[in-house]
Amino acid sequence: MKTFYIETFGCQMNAHDSEKVIGTLVDQGYQQVLTPEAAELVFYNTCSIRDKAEQKVFHRLDQFKRDAKGKTFAVLGCVAQQEGEKIFEKAPHVSMVCGSASYNQLPQMLVQLEAGNRRVTGLSLDTDETFDTPMTRRDNPHRAYITIIEGCDKKCSYCVVPFTRGPERSRTSASVIAEAAQLAAMGYSEIQLLGQNVNSYRDPSPAGWDFAKLLDEVGRVAGIRRVRFTTSHPRDFVKPIIDAIDSNPSLCNHVHLPVQSGSTRMLDAMQRLYTREEYMQRIAWMKAARRPIAITSDIIVGFPGETEADFEATLGLLTEVEYDSVFAFKYSRRPNTPALALEDQIPEEEKARRLAIVQEHQRQIQIRRNAAYVGAIEECLVEGFNKATGQWIGRTSQYKTLNFLHPAAGEAFAGQSGSAGKSGLLGQYVDVRVTRSGANSLAGEYAG
Ligand code: SAM
Ligand code: SF4
Repeated sequence: MKTFYIETFGCQMNAHDSEKVIGTLVDQGYQQVLTPEAAELVFYNTCSIRDKAEQKVFHRLDQFKRDAKGKTFAVLGCVAQQEGEKIFEKAPHVSMVCGSASYNQLPQMLVQLEAGNRRVTGLSLDTDETFDTPMTRRDNPHRAYITIIEGCDKKCSYCVVPFTRGPERSRTSASVIAEAAQLAAMGYSEIQLLGQNVNSYRDPSPAGWDFAKLLDEVGRVAGIRRVRFTTSHPRDFVKPIIDAIDSNPSLCNHVHLPVQSGSTRMLDAMQRLYTREEYMQRIAWMKAARRPIAITSDIIVGFPGETEADFEATLGLLTEVEYDSVFAFKYSRRPNTPALALEDQIPEEEKARRLAIVQEHQRQIQIRRNAAYVGAIEECLVEGFNKATGQWIGRTSQYKTLNFLHPAAGEAFAGQSGSAGKSGLLGQYVDVRVTRSGANSLAGEYAG
C-alpha cells in the first residue's frame, strides 16, 4: 500500500477539494500519513489568490529540492493551473501538476505516475463537469461541505479565480439534495453550500431551480438543522434569498456578502458590477428581515488609484453596515488580471497603513455589536472543548463563536489531552446564556 501526505492552502473550496482528493486516493488503495517525511506521494493543494499564498507552496517544495528522498511530488489547485508546466522548471522534483477542473482525471493520472511517468499534467479548463465523487473523506464530524457550483464567470479586474478555476458549472439540484440526504443519514446536521459565487447557481436539469429554491430545499432535508452558504456575489444577491432565510429556520441567519470597497469609483475599476447604493440595497433587505441576520464581508485596500477619499468611503460603509466580521486584504497584483496594467499602484507601506486602520475600525464595531448579545440566550452547535480554559466551544446560527461553561462537563475531560474529546455534548445543540463579549467571540453559561 502506498502512502500519501496532503497539505491544503487557501479557501473552503480548496479544503473541500482536498477532502474529495483524499477520498479518491483512499479508494485507489493509498493510505494517508500525517507528515511529508513519512509519505511516498506528497500533494500540495495550492492557493494563488494573493502573492503570499502562492509563495508558500514554493517554500514547501524548496525544502525537498536537494534531496527528494525517492518521493513523488504533486502540485494541485490554483497555483498548478496558473503556472502549469513552468512548475516543472521551478521545481524539477515535481511530477504532477493538476488544476481543480481536471480532478476527475486523478485516478488515471495516478496510474500514469505508477507506470513511471515523470511528468503528468491535468491543466484543461475545457470541462462542463464538476468533481463529483462518492469517496469524499470529511474532516469535520458535524458540518459537511457540498459544492453546488464550481468556477466563476465574473471578471473582477484583480482576481485570478476565473483563470484558475474556469467557467461556472452548476450541479443538478437532484444530486445536491441526494448528497444532503446522504449526509443527514450519516449523522451530519449542518451543511455548508460552497461556490465562488453560490448565488449564481443555475440548475442545469429541467427542474431549473435557482439558488433561493435550492437553499430552501436543502434546509427541508430531514435531519439537517443548519444550512450555511458561501460566498455570495452582491450582483446576483436577490430578495428571495432573504425571504427563504426568513421563512425556513434551518437556514442560518448569516450572509457573507463581500463588498471589496465603499467607493463606487473603485467598484467600477474593480469591475464588480454594482454600485455602493445597489450594495446598500441588499444590506437594507437583510436589516429588514424578521430574524437578525449577521453580515460579514471582504475588503481590499490599496487597489490601484484608491485615493484617501475612496478609502474614507470604505470606512464610512463599515460604520453604516456595522458588519459582524470582515476579512480585509492588501491588494495583491496577480498574473493575467486586467488590474496588473493599471497605473497608480499604491505603495506597500500605504496599503499596510490602510489595512491596519480598517482592522482597528472594524474591531471597534465588533466590540459594540457583540456587547449587544450579553443577556441573550443563543442556540449553539457544540464543536469542541478547550481543556486550558475548561470551556466548551459553541457556534451560533450567526456563526459567532460562543465559549461556555457546563456544570458537569469539565470533569468528563479531567486527564484527557487535546482540545476536544469524545463526549455527549459534542455535536449537540444547546442553549447558552451570553454573559460576556469581546471583539471576536462571546462567552456564556449553559442554559439547557
Ligand atoms: N467570489 C467571491 C466574491 O466575489 O466576493 C470572492 C472569492 S475570493 C477567493 C476571496 C476574497 O479574496 C475576495 O473577496 C477578495 O476580497 C480577496 N481577493 C481576491 N483577489 C485579491 C487580490 N488580487 N488582492 C487582494 N485580495 C484579493
Ligand atoms: Fe474573483 Fe470576482 Fe469571481 Fe469573486 S466574483 S471569484 S472576486 S472574479
